Amino acid sequence: MINIPKGTKDVLPSDSYKWHYIEKTVKSVAESFCVKEIRTPTFEHTELFLRGVGDTTDIVNKEMYTFNDKGDRSITLKPEGTAGVARAYIENSLYALPQPTKMYYITPVFRYERPQNGRLREHHQFGIEYFGSDSPLADIEVMLIAKSIFDKLGVKNIELNINSIGCPECRKQYNNALKAFLQNNFDKLCATCRDRFDKNPLRILDCKDDNCKMLLKDAPKVLDYLCEDCKNHHKAVCEGLDDLGIKYVVNPQIVRGLDYYTRTVFEFISNNIGAQGTVCGGGRYNNLVEQVGGSPCPAVGFGMGIERLMIMLANLELNLGYEKPIDVYIAPLSDDARKVAFRFANYLRGQGLSIEFDLMNRSTKAQMKYANKIGAKYVAIIGEDELKEESFTLKNMETGNSEKIKLVKEVLKEGN
Ligand code: ATP
Ligand code: MG
Repeated sequence: MINIPKGTKDVLPSDSYKWHYIEKTVKSVAESFCVKEIRTPTFEHTELFLRGVGDTTDIVNKEMYTFNDKGDRSITLKPEGTAGVARAYIENSLYALPQPTKMYYITPVFRYERPQNGRLREHHQFGIEYFGSDSPLADIEVMLIAKSIFDKLGVKNIELNINSIGCPECRKQYNNALKAFLQNNFDKLCATCRDRFDKNPLRILDCKDDNCKMLLKDAPKVLDYLCEDCKNHHKAVCEGLDDLGIKYVVNPQIVRGLDYYTRTVFEFISNNIGAQGTVCGGGRYNNLVEQVGGSPCPAVGFGMGIERLMIMLANLELNLGYEKPIDVYIAPLSDDARKVAFRFANYLRGQGLSIEFDLMNRSTKAQMKYANKIGAKYVAIIGEDELKEESFTLKNMETGNSEKIKLVKEVLKEGN
């Protein structure tokens, strides 16, 4: 017996309707913001993520599925959705179209992590990317998309946390202040943070180690080090959210795990799914496009973990849609009837109905039992009598009432 790889999951036929429901919901919200879908490959050249995600991140350092293909190219399975979209934006000259370019994606994401509840090695993300606008209203719009999705799904207890981590200019000052603050406790930091200390001190704020968290309790806040432009941008985002009556908290601890962020960063955090509470994380990344080889271009977006979203919805006992019911189960009662019944099934499918046909050669009794079990709304029976009369018996499974109906000529004639 070969088992499923660790940290991956099957979506079984009995559960797939939940995925369809979520996908339908996120797509309809995205479309209401006039955002169009983009699909990019599941793998990219490793170089893209080294440049785009950054070599001081956990993703690049520890989590990527990287291999050499048969042509000896280094290939990496998508560890996040944004870098590929930025590549496609540049490669297909989407910047030359009237801006902004607003895109969404639904994609598998691969990260070599320690599997836990809400933490998989293959998970799925719904993501939004806005390219070309530097307006704080673009930041707000992408947050609004996430919020509208939660609202549409009926989620109540989810908190929007926002912060600004400034631009490379103001971050220089902040990094110095943070290093000065941590200097005396350098030896007490975890190995990863000691490594970050010189390479990218801001990332220390994102450490999940309890001891590091404690050492950071009174750390200086990035917000106090913002330059004038970054400060104004942050203020405009807050005011815009206030104006719409959208609740949020300013949380100076939020810095996000990827190097490409500038200015706004945000997370939607639920207290309903245990330790992995961040269902959606995003922000602005004005330097990403340039970093992966394009001309400078402002951008903002988010990634939403679909599995975490589903855990949260299930824990909240929120409805995840319905399985599509079977309209008619077609029950042939003899070998002669089977041919006509099979044509009838095909005819009805062409009329837009969902039709189940007996492929197991069940007995009459077993067919009726099975039709009941799968919840068919109607059963159409074709036996010897019906064949003679060129009709079928339609049984309403809810009321138990039956009536005989003439078969249309398309079904009676062979070759149709
Ligand atoms: P975390 O801090 O929990 O590791 P992250 O900052 O690495 O999250 P992002 O890169 O921002 O996560 O990904 C966006 C979203 O994708 C997360 O908010 C989360 O909902 C989901 N996600 C990230 N990693 C995983 C994973 N390994 N398994 C399931 N969902 C994940
Ligand atoms: Mg992570």
